[in-house]
Amino acid sequence: MEDINPRNINSFMKLVAEAVNPVIVTHAKPDGDAIGSSVAMYHFLRMTGKDNVRIILNDRYPDYLDFITEGIPEEHLMTNDRHPLLSKNAILGSDLIICLDFHAFHRTKNLEPYLVESRAVKILIDHHLNPERELYEVSFSKTDISSTSELVYQIFMRTDVISGDAGKIPAKASLAIMAGMTTDTNNFGNSVYPSTLTMASELLRAGVDRDMILQKINQEHSESRLRLKGFMLKDLMKITKDGVAYMVLDKKAQYGYKMQEGDTEGFVNEPLSIGKVRMSIFAREESGEVRISIRSKRGTSANRCAKLFFNGGGHENAAGGKLHLPIDQVEEYIQKHTHIYMTEYEK
Ligand code: 5GP
Ligand code: MN
Repeated sequence: MEDINPRNINSFMKLVAEAVNPVIVTHAKPDGDAIGSSVAMYHFLRMTGKDNVRIILNDRYPDYLDFITEGIPEEHLMTNDRHPLLSKNAILGSDLIICLDFHAFHRTKNLEPYLVESRAVKILIDHHLNPERELYEVSFSKTDISSTSELVYQIFMRTDVISGDAGKIPAKASLAIMAGMTTDTNNFGNSVYPSTLTMASELLRAGVDRDMILQKINQEHSESRLRLKGFMLKDLMKITKDGVAYMVLDKKAQYGYKMQEGDTEGFVNEPLSIGKVRMSIFAREESGEVRISIRSKRGTSANRCAKLFFNGGGHENAAGGKLHLPIDQVEEYIQKHTHIYMTEYEK
């Protein structure tokens, strides 16, 4: 049954109305959609009178997303990295936790134990495969949608307070939704459905400044970020005979190019512009693990490859995972396992 039905919307609104200390959480290393959907929910809850709603993040989001959270006071937007005790108390002291943009608790990293311990009623709103529905009182899970931000929008629009009029959504929530959808679709480059364009149209009509969003997302990065991209595409990118492009970025190069969190966002998409490339993998050395990003073209499954060989998952053509290997062994691992994957699973 479709999740966005009147019964679920009513349950959602009832739980919100009853909540005393609502908390919003999203996945670790939050991206535009995670921040966009969280901030939209924050402003919506405030509109319904929940003045003490808080967003608790595992860690900071990239600076270029600051425009989305503008105006939210520090005590309402906390990261566990900087304020572990306050974050823990907020989650354990909450009676309603709204979980956005992740399918499993472990995607919240260090927030996971708090979520497991919490006795709060929980609501899930997410667009990934295989959500842990049994952990939630109400779940809105939809994979054929652009983003969690769009799912949040669809829910808002069906509530009595908004009643199908996008103009009634708080302006800051509308901006956050448009920004989240724009980053998750790569500016209408993927996962765009009729509903996505309808939403964009309705939000534009409601006054959202899309030009400002695009400027913030695309035109305010550092010089070293673009130099790093050039270096990666010129010197690091390799292409296997199976049509897999990969780039392995070690810590040394990250320091050399003064890499900031979020700087490499989207780089993994670039090799897909090459005709013979079916799948692109980006491996980045981090403390304790190697993060993996995978993108694939239609007909090749990034999700399956991530699940089988990279301890992860995600969406059909955009997935991620991790490896616990020294960085100098990652290239060989990728070569070997993508060869197995492309020849045995993707024939
Ligand atoms: P990204 O490459 O942008 O980090 O992630 C792409 C997609 O894969 C995201 O939608 C994300 O939710 C999913 N993903 C990233 N890392 C993991 C992971 O470790 N496990 C799972 N299950 N999904 C992941
Ligand atoms: Mn998302």
